[in-house]
Amino acid sequence: MSRDTDELARLPAGHALLPDTGGVGAISDGELHFLWHFIQGSIMEHEVRESLLRAWGMCQRHTFAFLSIDAALRRGYLHGPAILYQAIMERAVAALNAYSPLHRRPITHALRATGPCYMCALRYGPESSGYPSRDVVERGRNLDEIRRFTLETEAGWHSDVCGRCAQDERRARCRRHLLDELRHGDAAVTEARAQVASICARVTRYARAFRWELRGTDTPLDRAALISAAGWCSGWNSWLRLAAESNR
Ligand SMILES: [Zn+2]
Ligand SMILES: [Zn+2]
Repeated sequence: MSRDTDELARLPAGHALLPDTGGVGAISDGELHFLWHFIQGSIMEHEVRESLLRAWGMCQRHTFAFLSIDAALRRGYLHGPAILYQAIMERAVAALNAYSPLHRRPITHALRATGPCYMCALRYGPESSGYPSRDVVERGRNLDEIRRFTLETEAGWHSDVCGRCAQDERRARCRRHLLDELRHGDAAVTEARAQVASICARVTRYARAFRWELRGTDTPLDRAALISAAGWCSGWNSWLRLAAESNR
């Protein structure tokens, strides 16, 4: 089984990060401890960023954990993730522009993850132990900020949701399902190219709006592109579940 097929395989029970639970799907102390240090510094290290680029971010569980903890501990100030996903989506634009109907192989090659999830490789998961401070535990497990960000931007990311992740008729595809369809010869590449270019342009505007001289230049649609980028790279399940639970 190739690594790309592995990416689509079902996660073991309990490994998916389920937004609503305090139980088996919830972020572990070890993950919380790691991510607290990660967002404060190691995300900027060259080696770490290269790993994140190779893996298109992280797996679904750790992508959601990363963004939710960043939002919680920085009160919705998602600067680090915006810069990271700008770089990742620039890579996606380049990958899709390399496509031609006669030469499918380069694009499937370019869209694969060529390394494991950084946190999974370090064996962080639902059972990991760690010693985050009480303050980090209380704030880091609070989903209010990521829920607020996700719901406030929902109108902007809704059309980017992958129909195969959502199991409905939507035409958009995440990277993993696009790869799967490219292998079977029925992928809508022109649409994917337009979608990825749009996400990249918007997440770039969002990332730049953290600069003092450009503050306030981003729109809700631009901020939504951070969710779109995370969903496109790693899958939509956590985001759809968070939105569904919050809209009940
Ligand atoms: Zn992972
Ligand atoms: Zn998908």
